[in-house]
Amino acid sequence: MSTDIKRITHLVGGSSWTGVAERTSNVYNPATGQVTGELDLASAATVDEVVKVAHDASKAWAQTSLTKRAQILFAYRELVSRNKDRIAALITAEHGKVLSDAVGEVTRGLEVIEFACGIPHLLKGGYSEGVSTKVDVYSIRQPLGVCAVISPFNFPAMVPMWFVPIAVACGNSVVIKPSEKDPSAANAMAELWKEAGLPDGVVNVVHGDKEAVDRLLEHPDVKSISFVGSTPIAKYVYENGTKNGKRVQALGGAKNHMIVLPDADLDLAADAAVNAGFGSAGERCMAISALVAVEPIADELIGKIKERMATLKTGDGTRGCDMGPLVTGAHRDKVAGYVAAGVEAGAELVVDGREGNFDGADDGFWLGPTLFDKVTPEMSIYTDEIFGPVLSVVRTTSYDAALDLVNSNPYGNGTAIFTNDGGAARRFQNEVEVGMVGINVPIPVPMAYYSFGGWKNSLFGDTHAHGTEGVHFFTRGKVVTSRWLDPSHGGINLGFPTHD
Ligand code: NAD
Repeated sequence: MSTDIKRITHLVGGSSWTGVAERTSNVYNPATGQVTGELDLASAATVDEVVKVAHDASKAWAQTSLTKRAQILFAYRELVSRNKDRIAALITAEHGKVLSDAVGEVTRGLEVIEFACGIPHLLKGGYSEGVSTKVDVYSIRQPLGVCAVISPFNFPAMVPMWFVPIAVACGNSVVIKPSEKDPSAANAMAELWKEAGLPDGVVNVVHGDKEAVDRLLEHPDVKSISFVGSTPIAKYVYENGTKNGKRVQALGGAKNHMIVLPDADLDLAADAAVNAGFGSAGERCMAISALVAVEPIADELIGKIKERMATLKTGDGTRGCDMGPLVTGAHRDKVAGYVAAGVEAGAELVVDGREGNFDGADDGFWLGPTLFDKVTPEMSIYTDEIFGPVLSVVRTTSYDAALDLVNSNPYGNGTAIFTNDGGAARRFQNEVEVGMVGINVPIPVPMAYYSFGGWKNSLFGDTHAHGTEGVHFFTRGKVVTSRWLDPSHGGINLGFPTHD
């Protein structure tokens, strides 16, 4: 291994793993195209080793008081906040997104830690005194044990933070399996738990690919799986995890539509379309990839979007550009392939991101912002989640036709409507079959105290991420019926218990 290529390995019981990996994979800096890291990929046996450490740690952690847990969460919040720039730099170096965007991702993750700091309140149960003579009933929620978190490449810090702070606050231990494309941020975030005073083994990181995921899905001591990634893998994880008796929440891919009604503020809509279409090079599950223009405003709106696109600078994320490279060379080629397919299918290529000047090394994984007009629903640029900086305009003639388009789509993650008509917006929020809805807001990512999740093929399972749904997912309910001795209630009665 060259000296400027760093080894990245698992974090087990508070320390770096010291074993020898049978398989490794390369980690790249997408802005230079150079290999910067060699990542250990866990075998099934290594996963077992990590799960055992997590399982052993979970028993004492589950008995740790809520006060102590909250104190550790507050300390962790301070540490992540203080290390924000360092974590953001790690994200930019392996994911490619621009630094300001990477800082934003850590900030959104921090909000979940702040939510989890309120765990003593969140875990309060119910109590009913005197449901029957001298009988009381109360409910408590208890941790599950070992919880696995399997995350995608596009938010290497934020997505693990959607789950880990809440799972920990609820008294569980965690095994994180980050994306193998940008693994360093997860390690940095996990190391800070130790500094915050969390006992070793409560938070662990195991790196790997399908082999590691498959073992987590079948390991008897893993009680829950929180997965975020593409739809086919989310479905696979949901089906196999639940088959093995685990609680699973599996968030999948997306094709997010933004409808612009004729009465909308077109400057606001154009700004929003550019920000939501090309931020993070379109590699966001909440990115807008289909812009539904309700006539007669399409020409004017496209003109405004084109003007704004001409000002965007694509390049190295450390150089103050608007948009960075794509995550890998293979992904860049796949997205460029979609652009070619769109042209072939007859869509009008308004801005071609394959041509352009990039502020970065020649070998970076570059593709500039791309705009298509006159896209129709059967074209692959419309049907597929491209996950790149490609925005497709579909023209329609009415609100109903636009709504029908959104509701016919197999995905249902996020959507937005731009209008000045409150009645139309209110109708849309009621009628649209999508989990997260924006009204004049293009990327409606819920705050940490609400829950994040889509409908249809964008989420398998019934529990969304974070918020009170997160607390529910990471705990099991128990109801206790108690009666303190009262001789008058003794005696034999084989009838079904009723109350008097
Ligand atoms: P991916 O599905 O390729 O990978 C996600 C995780 O699954 C990774 O940890 C990866 O190692 C693992 N994995 C990959 N192939 C596997 C296999 N065959 N068997 C078992 N595990 C496997 O996703 P990605 O490319 O890293 O991320 C982008 C996708 O994630 C997009 O589809 C995006 O929409 C989606 N995403 C969704 C949300 C959401 O909240 N719905 C959020 C972020 C990203």
